[in-house]
Amino acid sequence: MKPEARKPLLAGNWKLHNTLAESRALATALRDGLPAGSRAEVVVAPVFTALTSVAEALRGSSIGLGAQDCYFEPRGAFTGEVSPALLLDAGCSHVIVGHSERRELFGDTDALVAKKLRAVLAAGMTPIVCVGESLAEREAGKAQARVSDQVRAALLGLAAAELERVVVAYEPIWAIGTGRTASAADAQEIHGLIRRLLGEFGGTALAERVRILYGGSVKAANAAELLAEIDIDGALVGGASLEARSFLDIVKAAG
Ligand code: PEP
Repeated sequence: MKPEARKPLLAGNWKLHNTLAESRALATALRDGLPAGSRAEVVVAPVFTALTSVAEALRGSSIGLGAQDCYFEPRGAFTGEVSPALLLDAGCSHVIVGHSERRELFGDTDALVAKKLRAVLAAGMTPIVCVGESLAEREAGKAQARVSDQVRAALLGLAAAELERVVVAYEPIWAIGTGRTASAADAQEIHGLIRRLLGEFGGTALAERVRILYGGSVKAANAAELLAEIDIDGALVGGASLEARSFLDIVKAAG
């Protein structure tokens, strides 16, 4: 049995997709189609320019708003960056940090991810911190070591009250946008490892309350099997979150 505190969380990462009109339409369709009585918490993360517009479309619904990234400084000469405080001001409750696309394409290091995560916590929002190994690391038998290093770099040293507010997303890079999903058993193995690490940092009782999401080609057809695993508490969804029906079907799979 999963503890009550680990309410399933389904987060849609819209990445670099959707105009304002498309973002509003998708948010409205999600709001209108959200299954009544669902236990799941639902969050969508549009592009920065659509945040306020989507916040408006979601007003009065239980769907939360997330940002896909942030900078760690509150203000200053940081051209092109957005601070957690401004994301909060735009209506966000969640911020994704350390997505593998940020790490691989934009050079976000473990140290930078840790700073971003702390800045999100300091602003009073929920960080969704992504970790996950590459295909080469998995094939070399280094998946556990890589994920452990990323989790330690991001979370070691946080106070218990902060650690408890973090959401971790395990996203094997080889499964993102490829249609290839980790088997439920392989995903569970890494989720179990992450929970053990959380236990080392904050004690087992606290670790039992932290949500660990799986991400990587999640769709309605595989969501229920993944979410049934004892340490999988939800999903970070890319491609399948861009269409209301497919994302809502994943929400339904969470019960
Ligand atoms: C993601 O980008 O976080 C993701 C999991 O993408 P997809 O669902 O498309 O694999």
